[in-house]
Amino acid sequence: MATGSTIDLRPRPQRIGDAERAKLLEGLGFGRVFTEHMVTIPYREPDGWQRGTLVPYAPITLDPAASVLHYGQAIFEGFKAYRQKDGGIATFRSDANARRFNQSAERLAMPALPVERFVEAADTLIETDHAWVPAGSGESLYLRPLAIATESALGVKPAKEYLFLVFGSPSGQYFPQGVKPVSVWLCTDYVRAAPGGTGAAKCAGNYAASLVAQQKALDAGCQQVVWLDALEHKYVEEMGGMNLFFVYQHGSRTKLVTPKLNGALLAGVTRDSILTLADDLGYDKEERLVSTEEWGRDLENGTLKEVFACGTAAVITPVGQVKFDGGSWAIHGGEPGPVATRLRETLLDIQYGRVPDKHGWMHRVL
Ligand SMILES: *Cc1c(COP(=O)(O)O)cnc(C)c1O
Repeated sequence: MATGSTIDLRPRPQRIGDAERAKLLEGLGFGRVFTEHMVTIPYREPDGWQRGTLVPYAPITLDPAASVLHYGQAIFEGFKAYRQKDGGIATFRSDANARRFNQSAERLAMPALPVERFVEAADTLIETDHAWVPAGSGESLYLRPLAIATESALGVKPAKEYLFLVFGSPSGQYFPQGVKPVSVWLCTDYVRAAPGGTGAAKCAGNYAASLVAQQKALDAGCQQVVWLDALEHKYVEEMGGMNLFFVYQHGSRTKLVTPKLNGALLAGVTRDSILTLADDLGYDKEERLVSTEEWGRDLENGTLKEVFACGTAAVITPVGQVKFDGGSWAIHGGEPGPVATRLRETLLDIQYGRVPDKHGWMHRVL
């Protein structure tokens, strides 16, 4: 796509020098360093989405009455650009993120942004800030698109003005301890999402509502919270901001089981990719209800071998320990299992262009 077709370029007059950038790219964590630019696209009724602009990364100003600050129309996405084996840059399934962005928009009564414009905005940013796509092992440029309601009006109704924005953050490992398995807390008091609610949308409010439970998990000595269904607190939904997989072994067959999308779960792009890779790697797969009762029972009877979480930021993270009121379970001796490890390597090989991309998932930017 030609740069600037719907985006005006107004970059910084002077770019950050190589030495300073190299220093900022040292020992990358997650989401702390940002690149030099961002792309913004305003929306207003009745005209719709306007031309976009690439501008220096900087604070934005909002009217105190901007409706996002009061009624929370705010959605976001997350995907990555990877430095390829040949030095080029490609994103992983950004079109899938664009489509999910629009599903989130629909749930929050916000306007959809055409998929091509979402992808073009990210591509323009990546082209401009290509030097910020790190080349170290496990590193990438995390892209964070978002949209917020900017209309200043205190009436409770869908806003008539919005701002779409995308910026980038060079990132290393999401969990500072690397691929060491995480411990999780089964949360039976707070819920993340209820039927008919916003659980399937990637909206800011879901995260705001999750933080007190996340703090409770930390207080219980766990790194992450596992959400259960809102009605019975019986069925497993997600882990923090990641989807969950259960690895079963029945005789010589390995089966991946993941909670079925029920309108309360977030449909992860990583989850979807793993279900596709299951076929490639010869694993059986099943999307269904998974209860905490069978989680404990199947660890006990030995058919459940591994549990792992998946998402863009951390790719695949094994779960090594489960805690709940009155007990705990260990999984795979608290070590990463072979199936999670193999899926993780397979996905990373595709993302970094080390193996052929037979599903057409990679979108070449440079
Ligand atoms: C973003 C997110 C995921 C993971 O989605 P990916 O597309 O794989 O990154 C899972 N659960 C929640 C609640 C999320 O917000």
